[in-house]
Amino acid sequence: MTPPIDGLTIQSVRDGLAKKEFSAVELTTEALRFAESANPTTNAYLHFCFERALRQAAVVDAKVARGEDAGPLGGVPVAVKDVIVTKGVRTTCGSKLLENYIPPYDATAVIRLEQAGAVILGKTNCDEFAMGSSNENSAFGPVRNPVALDRVPGGSSGGSAAVVAQGTAVASLGSDTGGSIRQPASFCGVVGVTPTYGRVSRYGLVAFASSLDHIGPFARNVSDAAALLQSIGGRDEMDSTSAFAPLPDYNKALSEDVKGLRIGLPKEYFQGLSSETGDHVMRAVDVLKRLGCEVRDVSLPHTEYAISAYYIICTAEASSNLARYDGVRYTSRSTASDTLSDMYRNTRGAGFGTECKRRIMLGTYVLSHGYYDAYYLKAQKVRTLITRDFHQAFEQVDALITPVSPFPAFRLGEKLADPMEMYLSDIYTITGDLAGIPCMSVPCGRTAAGLPVGMQILTRHFDEAGMFRIAHAYERSL
Ligand code: GLN
Repeated sequence: MTPPIDGLTIQSVRDGLAKKEFSAVELTTEALRFAESANPTTNAYLHFCFERALRQAAVVDAKVARGEDAGPLGGVPVAVKDVIVTKGVRTTCGSKLLENYIPPYDATAVIRLEQAGAVILGKTNCDEFAMGSSNENSAFGPVRNPVALDRVPGGSSGGSAAVVAQGTAVASLGSDTGGSIRQPASFCGVVGVTPTYGRVSRYGLVAFASSLDHIGPFARNVSDAAALLQSIGGRDEMDSTSAFAPLPDYNKALSEDVKGLRIGLPKEYFQGLSSETGDHVMRAVDVLKRLGCEVRDVSLPHTEYAISAYYIICTAEASSNLARYDGVRYTSRSTASDTLSDMYRNTRGAGFGTECKRRIMLGTYVLSHGYYDAYYLKAQKVRTLITRDFHQAFEQVDALITPVSPFPAFRLGEKLADPMEMYLSDIYTITGDLAGIPCMSVPCGRTAAGLPVGMQILTRHFDEAGMFRIAHAYERSL
């Protein structure tokens, strides 16, 4: 008998397979059936990969039958954000431009997930080219938050957060450039991890802003998220920015206690947020104090410039990365054009949504002759100052704790008319991406209206183990 998949964790899948309560093919069949039937309520999956999933499940079953180890993620049903390429499986990036794009190769993270035994059920909805904070910029319709269907799930990895919250996947992969894993994780009440920049290969992640893009996991609990990172992390020759730093045993870190750890509360992150959000985060900090952490106030003085710097750097890099969608490669082409430049213009004009166009224009402007020094170069210098703030804080403390978002999930349509208002929802998350440090969102309660609140934990470069240790200690104490 296959159990309902919305209650499963990696451990329960492993146990069930080992005790022969179900086979991987049975579990995958049930997971696909359930995910497909539940999807219309949220629109979290864009498409399913039935054949690939069942083929992979059969490989897992064959290993189990031979008495071999099926891998740390053996048979676990997962989902992958549709900005991460999958060989032979449509990868749209939430854009009309790539509606029919079928990649000829797999991203490294996808290869590693399957090598670890995971079964990819399908691809998840997202803001177009990962630009957005609400998933409302998808060309294929918004995602609804499974916790409150009139609310957004956050963005841009809204689909990947929603499938885990809805229980239509046990875990998933998303991407984070300015908060797109942590913010949706906090809105949907699941765990979301943005690893150190370079910890996970970006090979096969469709580029938005290359110096900021990260792949990372969503899961129902901290140990599942750690297990996913353990499987996908580590040096990859196909990405020259992937780090050589050795991957520690995250599972070991989970069992260590947090007594004596020094935790900093950056004062700039506790201003202008909803009081319910602040209360929940402070209650979580009290729990950590009870567990023996030492808590002190710190300051990250350049925080106020982060949004401006981020929206200059990410638009600049996006304008360059998105130049490749010209109607010649990858995409459907506008046929109603007489000249080459008309063809480019018409293809891009019809294919890109409003937010992508806005960013391409802004990015082209800040990189143009005469403005480069005033905007792009200045923003890069500000980025260095923000990174330095973190380095200085980490001389005094081992980790920082902040809210993930100033407010919980907002209503669909609520912020659509005002892009600046939407950009402000990233205020606490983009600094981590600008500095390239590991950061994660851990659920820390619900508002009176039942909306999840997330606490953000940030640690030094490559110290995901320290971050997991704190997150797990907190989760265990609940
Ligand atoms: N919301 C941010 C943006 O629109 C972050 C997006 C992301 O992290 N991919 O740029």
